[in-house]
Amino acid sequence: MNIYDIDNVSFSYSGKFSAISGVSMTIAPGEKVALLGPNGSGKSTLLRMMDALVFPDSGEISFMGRVLIEDNLHDEANTFFRKNVALLFQNPEIQLFSPTVFDDVLFGPMQLGIPRDEALHRAEESLEKLRIAALRDRSTHELSIGEKKRVAIAGLLAIDPGVLLLDEPTAGLDPRSCRDLIDIISSAGESGKTIITATHDLHLADELSDKAFVFSDEKTIIASGATNDVLSDTERLREWNLTHIHRHKHGGRWHEHEHKHL
Ligand code: ADP
Ligand code: MG
Repeated sequence: MNIYDIDNVSFSYSGKFSAISGVSMTIAPGEKVALLGPNGSGKSTLLRMMDALVFPDSGEISFMGRVLIEDNLHDEANTFFRKNVALLFQNPEIQLFSPTVFDDVLFGPMQLGIPRDEALHRAEESLEKLRIAALRDRSTHELSIGEKKRVAIAGLLAIDPGVLLLDEPTAGLDPRSCRDLIDIISSAGESGKTIITATHDLHLADELSDKAFVFSDEKTIIASGATNDVLSDTERLREWNLTHIHRHKHGGRWHEHEHKHL
């Protein structure tokens, strides 16, 4: 059974701002998938749908064979879904709300009815994994962006969901924190989790996915395939507004060139 079956889904905010148009895809258990596309192409909206925070205007999205509509997400069905799927928001400010780091990481498992001892154990383990044990009693508001992201991810891993939805997980991080985060996500992936990453960063897609869907400014999928194949088509990456131009200084003069992904 697929994790997600997404069939011809469209959605507009307030009924007028189109955010997703006629999107279809299937995602199998354990797949590592990138949603690639420029700003505003609908990636975050699709992740919110996969997390059942917004629902399609038309078309259908199913999780493990069950259509995601509000009527199917009451009580145990909702708990089942929340235990299995967790979304990392692009902006960790939205994700963190408990007074301390430890409380925040503990919140998810407790909320989902995991017995207290087990929840405490998971929270401790997640803090260790993300190397933020030293921050446990700190206020979440007083952390750097990189620290906040780690706390948010620790909270997700404490839930131990089978599916991780990651919205621009490395945005705003310095290169070392980026590297670290990619390693943490990859190792979570090795345990068989399904990982779906929205990004416009081709390096990140390369590191975190085997399969990629490319979204266009028209908020629809214009290409899909093995990530390697998608990223090696330099000509089309330009058409898709996805090549990064690398700008750096040589002998005091700025110079630009495309970044090739082979
Ligand atoms: P991406 O994550 O690829 O940058 P989004 O899913 O955030 O794309 O946005 C898709 C489209 O939906 C954009 O045109 C954006 O302006 C619009 N949009 C996103 N969020 C909202 C919102 N809360 N209200 C109205 N329009 C929105
Ligand atoms: Mg986005």
